[in-house]
Amino acid sequence: MTVRIGVIGTGMIGRDHTRRIQQVLSGAKIVAFSDVNLEGAKAVQADLAPDARIYATGEELIAADDVDAILVTSWGATHEQYVLAAIAAGKPCFCEKPLATTAAGAKRIVDAEVAHGKRLVQVGFMRRYDAGYRLLKKAVDEEIGTPLMIHAAHRNPSVPEQYVTPMAIHDTLIHEIDVLRWLLNDDYVSAQVVFPRKSSYSHAKLADPQIVLLETKKGVRIDVEVFVNCRYGYDIQCQVVGEEGLANLPEPMSIVMRKGAKLQNAILTDWKDRFIDSYDVELADFIAAAQKGTAAGPSSWDGYVAAITSDACVEAQEKTGQIVPISLPERPALYN
Ligand code: NAP
Repeated sequence: MTVRIGVIGTGMIGRDHTRRIQQVLSGAKIVAFSDVNLEGAKAVQADLAPDARIYATGEELIAADDVDAILVTSWGATHEQYVLAAIAAGKPCFCEKPLATTAAGAKRIVDAEVAHGKRLVQVGFMRRYDAGYRLLKKAVDEEIGTPLMIHAAHRNPSVPEQYVTPMAIHDTLIHEIDVLRWLLNDDYVSAQVVFPRKSSYSHAKLADPQIVLLETKKGVRIDVEVFVNCRYGYDIQCQVVGEEGLANLPEPMSIVMRKGAKLQNAILTDWKDRFIDSYDVELADFIAAAQKGTAAGPSSWDGYVAAITSDACVEAQEKTGQIVPISLPERPALYN
């Protein structure tokens, strides 16, 4: 069966996911677009899916008879309303992160999906589909013994002036929040944030770098350095220390050069290149599940837990140095 997909939000990632579905993946096609920016939607339609229809609103697109599944790639604050409408229509829905901009909003989605009785939502936490993280998870599960600590880093070369301190959590750390609990099969119980000396490349409204300390239910201690003006490249590091050994996230593949009396590897500079393959794999998973009328992969529950944890981390930024507890409600059986 070819899944007929409607895309809400035709900006950067909406265009890129459309390209994937139209040109890279099989099993689905784009039949509809909607965006408040009509010109943007028309441009994506013309470039990638000329036969698709354009709808005035996301709600009309979701209700259309010839749309089987939905991709929500609009501005984050609009995700909740579209995901709720997709659940109400009983249609599988891939939602880019964040699932909702508040934990209460994410909870409304969890409640709606639980009431519906079947999984319909996949959240765009694509790192779970990255080949390197999958190898790391296998090593954590099978090789290094009980995990004790994680040392991680999320570094960007620079960020624009609009990027302010809480965005280090909501836009940047959010990926570590999800992938580390998946890696450990564990949940967080507390967060703490400390700020080293500020980089002179940072902006007035951004404290950069910062160190986020998380503790899990099983007692694993995690430190994540978020440094978004590191200058030298886009660099994701993750080292898991276990009782019997330690495992590092593989570096992205690159040519090893001997030149000018130096041994060299290139470092990526654009975040879009770092997990490019994982976007293909996550959408292939979405299409495969949508063909069966359901969803797989990162769930609404994972989106909700990420929202609760993000809120705690932002509170920990505001209460610098203090330990902020994180408490989660009981996980509904739908997500076990
Ligand atoms: P973007 O380029 O700004 O695109 C968002 C699009 O949504 C714009 O065309 C915007 O129109 C449109 N929009 C705004 N309000 C809308 C509404 N009510 N209904 C329908 N469309 C609406 O942003 P982006 O970079 O593609 O990001 C989109 C989402 O994907 C964000 O939530 C972001 O966090 C997420 N994302 C995830 C990853 C990842 O690694 N998983 C990577 C990139 C982005 P206007 O331009 O007129 O406002």
